[in-house]
Amino acid sequence: MSKFDFAPMPDKEGFFGSYGGQIIPPELKKVMDDIDQAYEEIRQTEEFQNELMSLFQDYVGRPSPIYHAKRLSEQLGGAQIFLKREDLNHTGAHKINHCLGEALLAKFMGKKKVLAETGAGQHGVALATACALVGIPCEIHMGQVDIEKEHPNVTKMKILGCKLVPVTRGTATLKDAVDSAFEEYLKNPEEYIYAIGSVVGPHPFPKMVRDFQSIIGREARQQFNEKFAKNPDVITACVGGGSNAMGLFTAFLNDDDVKIVGVEPAGKGLDTPDHSATMTLGKPSQIHGMKCYVLETDDGEPMPVHSIASGLDYPGVGPQHCYLKDIDRVEYETATDEECLNAFMTLSRVEGIIPALESAHAVAWAMRVAPTMGKDQQILINLSGRGDKDADYVAEKLGL
Ligand SMILES: *Cc1c(COP(=O)(O)O)cnc(C)c1O
Repeated sequence: MSKFDFAPMPDKEGFFGSYGGQIIPPELKKVMDDIDQAYEEIRQTEEFQNELMSLFQDYVGRPSPIYHAKRLSEQLGGAQIFLKREDLNHTGAHKINHCLGEALLAKFMGKKKVLAETGAGQHGVALATACALVGIPCEIHMGQVDIEKEHPNVTKMKILGCKLVPVTRGTATLKDAVDSAFEEYLKNPEEYIYAIGSVVGPHPFPKMVRDFQSIIGREARQQFNEKFAKNPDVITACVGGGSNAMGLFTAFLNDDDVKIVGVEPAGKGLDTPDHSATMTLGKPSQIHGMKCYVLETDDGEPMPVHSIASGLDYPGVGPQHCYLKDIDRVEYETATDEECLNAFMTLSRVEGIIPALESAHAVAWAMRVAPTMGKDQQILINLSGRGDKDADYVAEKLGL
């Protein structure tokens, strides 16, 4: 496999254009700068590179294949649909890529504990997995409400040996879990490290998480060119915080022949309050230590957002996405809950692949545009995860 490769952005202060940076108290800035410096040093060592690449290969199962969804393409009657199968990774999604990177970095930095929050439990399970493998203690904070809803993930985290901290304050959901985990982190930032679950938060996290995920696009570009001696015409991925999308997009950013589309959740409709289309309807502001597009209420509070896919309901978005939108390099489109459910069922029944509800947003958008494109054109979708976690919910919702 090729050597780990890193994109040139952001600048030294962590800015992608006017987005990103570190909107944090001075004492925390020092902590983040230390992580950045350690990361920049460690990532260049052969030892780190080799260990990460061999884990990607033998533990995650990389490279993940590119699959030509022939029956779906035929049914749509236009562009050929290809899937980058991140759903086949160990633990069933792309999140393991950056969790392994973060856990390994923690080990190389000599940290004593990895801390994080989790909402639906996907980040928690991937991180607990990576920490078990690397052999470093892991502590995950999770809202009590989410704990009761996400039983299988809670059980997995316990089996994997992480310390699960139930958070009962406030609304006992994701936001409170973030606050609680962060308080614990600040008790000893010298010995702990906070592992963020997407390309968000203060610098250097948007950069680091992107770098760890960028294996997706580098593989995909090489696989596609080996097969067809060209790039796909269109590449697309769902955008929550934006990590699986940056993972796919990064390798193609300089390819003018590739149209790049991020797909956000339109929820119950963009004309209702129940969506999470941050790039489409948000405004430049700040959240969680970074400048980015944010969905805010009139008094500047983050909006309560909604998506049928719990991994996509975030009122902010990764700063690099905001920059790529402003310079018109990436287009941001949306898909509703209903379109997502339809794509979920269609991919299951036509290809025998049950996608995560998050990934089904990108499939839904591709299904909408494929019929308008020529049969010799190609759309590559990042299938970020598998839908086992969503199967019961969908079956109940559709009365199956
Ligand atoms: C968490 C998750 C997402 C959303 O996160 P991004 O950072 O936007 O990639 C998408 N797909 C799956 C399967 C997830 O678990």
